[in-house]
Amino acid sequence: MPTSPSTGAGRYAPSPSGDLHIGNLRTAILAWLFARTTGRAFVLRVDDLDRVRPGAAERQLDDLAAVGIDWDGPVVYQSTRLPSYDASVARLTAAGRTYECYCTRREIQQAATAPHGPMGAYPGTCRDLTEAERAERRAQGRPAAIRLRADVDEYVITDLLHGEYRGAVDDLVLRRGDGVPAYNLTVVVDDAAQGIDQVVRGDDLLASTPRQAYLAELLGLPAPVYAHVPLVLNREGKRLAKRDGAVSLADQRALGNTPGDVVAAIANSLGYTARTTAELREVFEPQRIPVKPWILEPIGLFRPEGCP
Ligand SMILES: [Zn+2]
Repeated sequence: MPTSPSTGAGRYAPSPSGDLHIGNLRTAILAWLFARTTGRAFVLRVDDLDRVRPGAAERQLDDLAAVGIDWDGPVVYQSTRLPSYDASVARLTAAGRTYECYCTRREIQQAATAPHGPMGAYPGTCRDLTEAERAERRAQGRPAAIRLRADVDEYVITDLLHGEYRGAVDDLVLRRGDGVPAYNLTVVVDDAAQGIDQVVRGDDLLASTPRQAYLAELLGLPAPVYAHVPLVLNREGKRLAKRDGAVSLADQRALGNTPGDVVAAIANSLGYTARTTAELREVFEPQRIPVKPWILEPIGLFRPEGCP
């Protein structure tokens, strides 16, 4: 049943680069639980600007439905939203808030980090180029990225699980040299356009959230409530990946496990006994989320008891 837009919305926004793995499904279920238990709508957005594998988006939507996630309204595909991203870049440019950057990735890595900036921050090489210097670089055929001219070097956000979080802001890329709008821009523009006021996602994205909240402020867009949830890691403590074994729903089906078995394992990792997302919704308490990552041994976890 669609919820009135006035109540706000949560979302899940996968990249269709392959099948969702159990870590992705767990984050999606958490985002759905946060939204549904706070009276919000829940929307899906497919981040298909880059790294698209044919058929992956359809399989991801099927898998989300199979674990009991429902959503409101049509799925939004970012590839249909290019004019909105261009309009936002144009607005910032008109306000003197952007500049062209001709640096290669390698040049940025080799350049000294900005004096007060975080490790890996853009050192500002192209920030104050003269028009003649820009013309020279264009004549060399270097593709220009568009960067934000930031006037802060940090920004504070509030996260439901992490509290006040202060993080670095640099002159982030808004549009890459190949013309593709950057994630930090598209996420901000789309969250606002979709009425999303609650962002629940993996805590690997916490560090880039101050940049996004700052950008939202510059664009006059409201900042959502954030909850960055712990990731699922493999035995080596690295982010779960395809090579870790039977990590997708299809892999689990091949082992004889149902989507309900996978939901039960995810519920268990959150401290609940439930076999459906509907059951989980009845008992879910956001403040009880374990703050540590879930270490998963994908095959062993789902083997029926007694099997080697
Ligand atoms: Zn540059």
